[in-house]
Amino acid sequence: MSFWALASRRVIPGTVQRSTNAAAAIGGTRQMSVAEKDNILPTSWENIFERSSKIFFMTEIFRAFWLSGEVAMKPKVTINYPYEKGYLSPRFRGEHALRRYPSGDERCIACKLCEAACPAQAITIDAEEREDGARRTTRYDIDMTKCIYCGFCQEACPVDAIVEGPNFEFATETHEELLYDKEKLLSNGDKWEKQIAKNLLSEHLYR
Ligand code: SF4
Ligand code: SF4
Repeated sequence: MSFWALASRRVIPGTVQRSTNAAAAIGGTRQMSVAEKDNILPTSWENIFERSSKIFFMTEIFRAFWLSGEVAMKPKVTINYPYEKGYLSPRFRGEHALRRYPSGDERCIACKLCEAACPAQAITIDAEEREDGARRTTRYDIDMTKCIYCGFCQEACPVDAIVEGPNFEFATETHEELLYDKEKLLSNGDKWEKQIAKNLLSEHLYR
């Protein structure tokens, strides 16, 4: 089709468009009938001029470049995870951790309140008295595959020993890896203590 034919072509809406779309929909390509050709009317000179100027001066291409530039200058709404991470609330309830006092002694006094409060029955605690008379756990297990991250254990704990820390990257390949024992929970506490203490301090007015 010549340039002038392309620039001056105008179709009555709902006639040829619809019928050719229907033909395309059933998988066929067909010639336009005489009646359909009659519906193609010559367009006005104004429209021809407008279309011609668009084609000659490539205005659409320049507008597309302008739009791309505008979008490129806007602040990004996505982050490059895992190299960049989004904001995490101090109230975020992530992987569990058992904390120690600065002296290194365990905070947990084996009162079992967390075990009683857990609606998923994910916590199992055994306890005995130490030589110095203090009561401490001999076993502290959390089945992380049962846990629903409600935070009740943290709320129940009178000494802020069990907490849900800021770590959310603890996906595993096997079920067994999500059966946490006391050693694992204490090592989590040692690893995240700084961040956990900061979060608890920022929220102490609301607890
Ligand atoms: S967060 Fe809720 S479900 Fe998970 S161990 Fe604590 S109390 Fe149980
Ligand atoms: S973690 Fe807290 S609530 Fe749970 S047994 Fe220890 S002291 Fe009690």
